[in-house]
Amino acid sequence: MKYNLFDKEERIIQQAEKKSLEFFAKSEDVVASLKELIKAYRFILLEQQRLIRVSDLQQENLRKTTEELDEKNQQLEEQAKNLQQLNQLLEQEIEQRKSLEQELQHMVTTDMLTGAWSRCKFWENGEYELERRKRSLEPMALLVMDIDHFKLINDRFGHMVGDEALRQFVLVCKAGLRAVDGLARIGGEEFGVILPGADKQAALIIAERMRASVADAVVQGDFGRVQFTVSIGVAEAMEEDSFMQLVNRADNAMYEAKRKGRNRVEYYVEPAK
Ligand code: GH3
Ligand code: MG
Ligand code: MG
Repeated sequence: MKYNLFDKEERIIQQAEKKSLEFFAKSEDVVASLKELIKAYRFILLEQQRLIRVSDLQQENLRKTTEELDEKNQQLEEQAKNLQQLNQLLEQEIEQRKSLEQELQHMVTTDMLTGAWSRCKFWENGEYELERRKRSLEPMALLVMDIDHFKLINDRFGHMVGDEALRQFVLVCKAGLRAVDGLARIGGEEFGVILPGADKQAALIIAERMRASVADAVVQGDFGRVQFTVSIGVAEAMEEDSFMQLVNRADNAMYEAKRKGRNRVEYYVEPAK
């Protein structure tokens, strides 16, 4: 038999009904009032039962909703975890790309053998400095340097020693330059130096100092001792110069130094018309 929470109340009402009807059997008014009272009790009892059913139903709904929310919460937590992992992967990817970009940038702007600027950076920087000079009206000069009889070093000592000589050449030149000066490898054994703020006089002094340092330098190893010299051409930027024109003048001056016997510095002089 199904247990009813209100069985006891029902029994009490029935007993009270029975006993009071017997007791007041002679008075019709009292009996009628009692019946009304009992009816009211029954109604309240039914109402309580109905409210409990509603409350049970609501609790059941609440339980189901809580379960669903828990499940959704778990799903969201899992999605958040996945997103976090994805984010980490993306960050790693970005880091890798950044370092690859830096590596590429380094490869484009730096000469791998000597660590000097690349030809590409030389042109980029030269054009930038020339534009800056035009605005600031500061002087600017350029050197083109070519190692003398470099082929002989390769022929006599081998290519590896030639490479070492190029590296040493760059070290010696850098030691004689300011931080703002840009030394670039623009050919096999040919180098360019951008000298912002330097006029003809200053550039000639720097060039002569470098020529002397290179002539004094000795490259030493198992192979013995290697010494070499450099020919340097100097040009100063003029009013409406393009960087190409400036480089050409310094290049011509360098060839003039070669013609005049090498291991010397020449300044570009406009040929007589
Ligand atoms: P000059 O005084 O007229 O400039 O004579 P040179 O021998 O220096 O000039 P030339 O142009 O005849 O020879 C340049 C040599 O530089 C030839 C080439 O093999 C060498 N060279 C160019 N790049 C490199 C390099 O990266 N490593 C080595 N070891 N040698 C190089
Ligand atoms: Mg040479
Ligand atoms: Mg050369």
